[in-house]
Amino acid sequence: MVVSFCLHISSSAQSKWLPEPGIDIQHYEFSLEFFDEADALFGKAQIFLERESDINELKLDLIKKEGGKSGMELKTVTYSSSPLTYTFENDVISIGLPANFDSEKPIEIEYEGIPADGMIISKNKHGDRTFFGDNWPNRARHWLPVVDHPSDKATVAFKVIVPEKYQVVGTGSLREESDLDNNRRYYHWESEAQIATKVMVIGIAEFAIQYLSTRQGIPLSSWVYPQDREAGFYDYALAEEVLDFMIEKVGPYPFEKLANVQSKTKFGGMENASNIFYMEASVDGKRSSEGLIAHEVAHQWFGNSASESDWQHIWLSEGFATYFTALFLEDKYGFEALQKSMDENRITALTRAPATGVVPQNADNLMALLNANSYQKGGWVLHMLRTKVGDEKFWQIIRSYYSKYAGKNASSSDFQAVAEKISGKKLDNFFTQWLRRPYNPAISWSYSFDAAKGELSLNCTQTHEGEPFDLDLEFDIVQGEIKARKSFRMIEKSRNFVIPMKKAPESIVIDPDSRVLASFSKK
Ligand SMILES: [Zn+2]
Repeated sequence: MVVSFCLHISSSAQSKWLPEPGIDIQHYEFSLEFFDEADALFGKAQIFLERESDINELKLDLIKKEGGKSGMELKTVTYSSSPLTYTFENDVISIGLPANFDSEKPIEIEYEGIPADGMIISKNKHGDRTFFGDNWPNRARHWLPVVDHPSDKATVAFKVIVPEKYQVVGTGSLREESDLDNNRRYYHWESEAQIATKVMVIGIAEFAIQYLSTRQGIPLSSWVYPQDREAGFYDYALAEEVLDFMIEKVGPYPFEKLANVQSKTKFGGMENASNIFYMEASVDGKRSSEGLIAHEVAHQWFGNSASESDWQHIWLSEGFATYFTALFLEDKYGFEALQKSMDENRITALTRAPATGVVPQNADNLMALLNANSYQKGGWVLHMLRTKVGDEKFWQIIRSYYSKYAGKNASSSDFQAVAEKISGKKLDNFFTQWLRRPYNPAISWSYSFDAAKGELSLNCTQTHEGEPFDLDLEFDIVQGEIKARKSFRMIEKSRNFVIPMKKAPESIVIDPDSRVLASFSKK
């Protein structure tokens, strides 16, 4: 996603989010009913799962109603119409699996309540009532009983009954849309792709809907508030060329459709699988949200299809979406657009990244992971990998990583293994220094020219505290119209590079193409 609010970064403790082992959810079917008169929802979840033979308990996350107005209450927990033994404490439902459990039949849970979060029921900027799922990172549990972790993906169906004035957009493809009695309307959306709870949602509002062209078999549509119809359709149609770019560069689109949806997400944009929810202000009729749209569309491949195995590897979502935005802009506008993006991202990475490394030891505070390490520095790691292995190998790595982990989960080591296999290079030092070190290189440099010897002497010192980095540095030596490019590898704390030269240079530019994530200061 793209963050549109200030983040509080707090210290992290031991990661506590991994689900209990031995349970693998296969499919969720959520039947949900929403009303205008009250914010309560009525839900029935049918959960199909596989379990290891010694596992007799299913633990599901659901925020419990505890005295206040919001939270969920359980009505029934059954299997084949027979009640099951369960407890519901500390926002976890622990269900005893029956002796005759068969993975072909679902565990069924009926529940109701007012969600405090995760399903945002409110008024939009025009004063109209709307309902938007906003699950990232683990807020699905406010309205859905789930194993709320990206490593347990499942297919999902949403069967939703709403007042008839609304349209419902949901994950996957539309299977049914029918009028019911009492001015109610029924929608059935279903995804055959395995997805994580963080990106399975529905949105309910009065929408204007534009069905755009089909891109390589993928139907593309825009869903905006009726008042924003013209501006929103114009803005969101930008997704066509991003979709073309990603399909051409990375591989087939992983879901049944792509809907771009104006919404009440608390983020700038939220990449929900096959229906991206954007903040209301993303529509302005001026296409100001081009980078935002590119970021969220790129997430359909990276984050939604090939997903991080656990939260500390979130750069595999956010760093990729950040760099693919820059790559899309490079493809559309040329190299200067890429360089501008990387220069902006460099400033953010150098000045705002917390001292945890891109892959932190612990990932307890999930919102705090939305930081300049995961996004800007993660994007820079891909940019530097591209420089290290060359364009051809870089794109082979991207395509190979995606095809291997599409629909699955990967860790940073999994990505490294693909990069090493394709490039034929040992990249341990590269990934360790850029992903694990909690600091970045700071380089102080100077030069002097000795006319008698005919030598230009370039001095570089890594002035940051900690280990020196292994860097490939480039310099442009400027003489009038002529720029001579010189490249050096630097692994030491400090080094002098001597270049034979007859005439003093007019100027020298370090890292002229923005290839190294470092701060440079001229002595
Ligand atoms: Zn993102």
